[in-house]
Amino acid sequence: MKTRCLFILILLLSVFFMLPVKADTEMSLTMQDNQVIVMNAPENSMLIALFYKGSSLSDVRIVRGSKTIIMDISKEMENADTTKMFLWDHSTLTAVSEKSESMKNKIKLEVNGHILTATLSENSSAEAFLALLKEGPVTIQMRDYSNFEKVGSLGVDLPQNNMQMTTQPGDLILYQGNQITIYYDTNRWSLTSLGKIDDVTQDELKAILGDGNVTVTFSCTEDLQEQNPGKFNFNTRRVLLNSGHEMPINGLGTYSLHGDTCINSVKAALACGVRLIDTASAYGNEAQVGQAVREAMEEYGIKREEIFVITKIYPGSEMANPEKAIQACIDRLNIGYVDMMLLHHPDPNDVKAYKAMEKFVQEGKIHSIGLSNWYVEELEAFLPQVDIKPALVQNEIHPYYQENDVIPYIQSKDITVQGWYPLGGRGHTAELLSDPVIMQIAQAHGVSSAQVILRWNLQKGVVVIPGSSNPEHILENNTLYHFHLTDEEMEKINALDRNEKHDWY
Ligand code: NAP
Repeated sequence: MKTRCLFILILLLSVFFMLPVKADTEMSLTMQDNQVIVMNAPENSMLIALFYKGSSLSDVRIVRGSKTIIMDISKEMENADTTKMFLWDHSTLTAVSEKSESMKNKIKLEVNGHILTATLSENSSAEAFLALLKEGPVTIQMRDYSNFEKVGSLGVDLPQNNMQMTTQPGDLILYQGNQITIYYDTNRWSLTSLGKIDDVTQDELKAILGDGNVTVTFSCTEDLQEQNPGKFNFNTRRVLLNSGHEMPINGLGTYSLHGDTCINSVKAALACGVRLIDTASAYGNEAQVGQAVREAMEEYGIKREEIFVITKIYPGSEMANPEKAIQACIDRLNIGYVDMMLLHHPDPNDVKAYKAMEKFVQEGKIHSIGLSNWYVEELEAFLPQVDIKPALVQNEIHPYYQENDVIPYIQSKDITVQGWYPLGGRGHTAELLSDPVIMQIAQAHGVSSAQVILRWNLQKGVVVIPGSSNPEHILENNTLYHFHLTDEEMEKINALDRNEKHDWY
């Protein structure tokens, strides 16, 4: 892996320096599956290498002034050197490009494991199509027609707004009121425009659609968000907490990461797009987490407000002397404010400790506060005693211990749920990751078992913080937004519950 990365880096560097750099220059280069390499090229330009999984498409582009730019680059090209390389997954890149755009008139297309977005046209046909998708996703079997389109029956009639037009690759067209077509080539006819697929070239689209028949699922992005029990925004990959602050919905857990391993893992996570880091006073690694965050901000140009750090104070002496314990966490992290602080477990002094955290919130030193290892009974007793509603409850959640009674209860209180041991926890991951049900679903989507489990959590509205010291696993665990588990697949995983707790609390 390292050798391949090095080879790619050298290749990219040599390609970069050989190029007369100008906007939108393109060339071919073969990359690894499902990876995007973003090189922080001289400022005001960006070298991006893309490889789309499962297709033969690959390219390297210099992009300038394009919305696919990930980093804020403003100075002239000559002024900076080409020193940094990051690995990004394709879905991260797509999400960043979409981030600033309104998703209001957008729909999603799921095709051959790819997620595409399309912008709807402004006419009554597109409005009716959107209304249909708001009732739920629509899956259409499409076939090739005349080497310029895929076409399939919608099963219902929509109003027509036909006009003479020459289609472009990516056009979504309503034909005869009840046929949906995706054009990948041009044709002149009287047709109704429903919209256009975003940010895809003709070659990319052809490769994604493939030869012959294809199944395409159209869905409404807004609706997917509303249906999501945790109100997650899968486009920004964030959730709005009841504290008014936004938190990323997937992150890195650091329970067993220490010393340089911790620093390197947190930096690897931040380099590949992870923006949520979970630590705790009890883990003994807050100083390393803080150091990694500071170094990543400096080296990768990430702003502090993009990163969300959670820490926790522990029962016993810390909760007995909460002000001191809270300040000690803030000092050890040394990253200015703390995004979220939790009480690690219930304790005789937990209300007192929580009230101390409330004071730190009022002083602006902590943005949000919450609880960890609190269940229904504990919450019922605790909530009436505090002024600031917890923004988060972090509990053990994985397919063998699902907390199906606790999660909806917490969510009904407008509190976000986060799962620890999402992969079962050390010592249990091998069994969970090789569960035949999960492996079979993973195979169907061309992803790993870990990705299926993490995605299952996200679709249940549970934030995930898998722990890992392996950069490949960290990248994989952040690549969760290019596939969607069906209701049937979700049910199959729900059926794996054994009420089997993997830790005592
Ligand atoms: P986990 O996330 O369930 O599992 C971590 C294990 O999975 C590691 O051995 C890791 O090995 C492996 N792994 C990670 N990604 C993988 C992948 N893509 N493929 C294969 N293996 C993979 O357990 P955890 O780290 O103990 O728990 C997650 C986080 O929850 C903790 O780090 C901590 O932040 C939090 N937590 C909170 C509490 C609480 O009381 N609030 C309790 C426990 C944990 P590699 O290093 O080789 O990737």
